Amino acid sequence: MLRYFDGNATSPLCKEARDAWLEASERWWFNGSSPFREGAAVHVRLERDREELASQLGCESGELIFNSGATEGNNHVFMALGMLCPENQTVLVSAVEHASVREPAKRYLGDRLQILDVDSNGVVDLGNLEELLKSGEVFAVSVMAANNETGVLQPWQKILEICQSHGVLYHCDAAQWIGKLPLEGLGKCHFVTGSAHKFGGPKGCGFLKYSRSVGETAFLTGGSQEGGLRAGTEDYPSIAAMMAALDSTEEIPPSGRDEFERHVKQWLPEVQIVGESVPRLAHTSMLILPEFGNDRWVNLLAKKGQLVSTGSACSTVKGQESQVLEALGYSSEEARRAVRVSGGKWTCGDSWGELGRAFRDVWDGLQEEGESPSVISVD
Ligand code: PMP
Repeated sequence: MLRYFDGNATSPLCKEARDAWLEASERWWFNGSSPFREGAAVHVRLERDREELASQLGCESGELIFNSGATEGNNHVFMALGMLCPENQTVLVSAVEHASVREPAKRYLGDRLQILDVDSNGVVDLGNLEELLKSGEVFAVSVMAANNETGVLQPWQKILEICQSHGVLYHCDAAQWIGKLPLEGLGKCHFVTGSAHKFGGPKGCGFLKYSRSVGETAFLTGGSQEGGLRAGTEDYPSIAAMMAALDSTEEIPPSGRDEFERHVKQWLPEVQIVGESVPRLAHTSMLILPEFGNDRWVNLLAKKGQLVSTGSACSTVKGQESQVLEALGYSSEEARRAVRVSGGKWTCGDSWGELGRAFRDVWDGLQEEGESPSVISVD
């Protein structure tokens, strides 16, 4: 039986989302802009979902754009910031952001991009942020809510307050927070990005909260959908499924993950757990194992039906090392021994216990095998 522990990469479609998608695809597949009753019915549903999301986030529904997910939202935000940020000001982007923030930040800001350092747990230092904002040279700040690799949470509520008190814009990539922790207050950020597939919804669907008061910049131009900020026929079945997934989310109890970490540390005291001493997502654990490359660990665990990963799916594909671990001060050699485990609401019963036992079996096997060159097996 497969045990899925790569939930920060994506989550399985939950039953509620699947049912909502099927119903909408059967009954509400019309174009919401069509000039007859069926089209109007889709439009009404779409707007009802927008109102619902706005009330959960605490913002105006007119500030919410349904889109293809956090990558698109992040690109949209940095395109806008690139156009709005004056030449003599900068945008602070934390050193642990996802590639879909880092890359558009480089592309659209050029030398107006300033990296905001984090401490050895990957958390932004609020005193340092406050000092930087006092200079008056900062136009906007981008700090994620929860890190996809380590699960470490940022004090985004405090960051928002600091930004507000200095009249600075704040973008929060909340892709890993939404569906796992309360949404309340997020809508006060000028920009918020999210992806449905991180919390049981369909892939290729998400949203962006965009404060129109900052200046309206369309990402996709064409039709007048999404208040003119994102052209293209809305994918109503996916939006309905995203909202059903959001409504069915529940807080995941931390006990399984903590027990797993305690267990691993008992027989492998040299293991390092990234961000262990600071608040983290309840279902995420990033382990730096004392020996053997992470590709060997991941392959051998997969052979035992335990699906874990080496870090961000987006960097794994490119074969890059984790920039997040580098920002935390880990060496590239340590980063090559990092394994990320991320469960979710589907992680039930003794799955964490089984995972711990599988880690131990793999460790015992590797000890016997010794340091043979790492080979990625594809079977
Ligand atoms: N931001 C974070 C923090 C993420 O974890 C991800 C997905 N790994 C994204 C943005 C991008 O999401 P998507 O691939 O759904 O566009």
